Amino acid sequence: MATHRTRLMAGNWKMNKVPSEARAFTRQLLGRLEAAGRPEGVEVLLCPPFPALTAVHEEIVASGAGDWVQLGAQNLYFETHGAFTGEVAGPMLADAGCRYVIVGHSERRHLFGESDETVARKVKAAFSAGLVPILCVGETIDQRRQGQTEAVIRRQLEVALEGLDEAAVAGMVIAYEPVWAIGTGENATPEEAHRVIQQVIRQRVRELTGQAAAERVRIQYGGSVNATNIADFMALDGIDGALVGGASLKVDSFTAIVAAG
Ligand code: PGA
Repeated sequence: MATHRTRLMAGNWKMNKVPSEARAFTRQLLGRLEAAGRPEGVEVLLCPPFPALTAVHEEIVASGAGDWVQLGAQNLYFETHGAFTGEVAGPMLADAGCRYVIVGHSERRHLFGESDETVARKVKAAFSAGLVPILCVGETIDQRRQGQTEAVIRRQLEVALEGLDEAAVAGMVIAYEPVWAIGTGENATPEEAHRVIQQVIRQRVRELTGQAAAERVRIQYGGSVNATNIADFMALDGIDGALVGGASLKVDSFTAIVAAG
């Protein structure tokens, strides 16, 4: 269903594809996407691992699809430079061609111990570097069973959005990614995802930052999205795209997902 928000169909490649594979994959994918044509009101985002950013960026630029296919990173550090061995700063990503950066993905939160406060610092660092943060929020299976979904998401948003003005929040992206649905093949039903996106996330943004930001912020669904179920999510007004893991690694499935956007 048409909305006034540009839908963002994003591929989170996670720790997959070496730079040479990423380059070949991007070339093939862009060829397919261009042959199919840009779906109206859709933007595509590719988020490869750090070492492949340059190769993917070069392919996007060479293809001429840079007006609707963007580059993003999967993480950043909140300092801009200095003695932080192994970390990557926002300005480095921006200079490498990134427009977006995923922040607070559940794998960062749960495997690497990122707290709500760390995530909040990263959101601010993304804005400082001129990047658009994709803030991931979502409940674990235990939290869901205990009926805490709403409370968990409200708290994640409250901490992450603290101190951001209306224009910043309006320009960012939020991804609802129930942790139990990521990489499990068990997706939230489109109706459940829609309820959380509209009645919990958009409502919380409204309370924290105001009506204008709530209307404009793009909110994606993520968690076992594939070429078959994507249309059911995109049919619901208020779901502004998808953050796709496994199914973004194959040209066929990701092309189909973009086409459904
Ligand atoms: P999945 O991952 O599509 O493989 O479930 C989604 C994500 O983690 O962003």
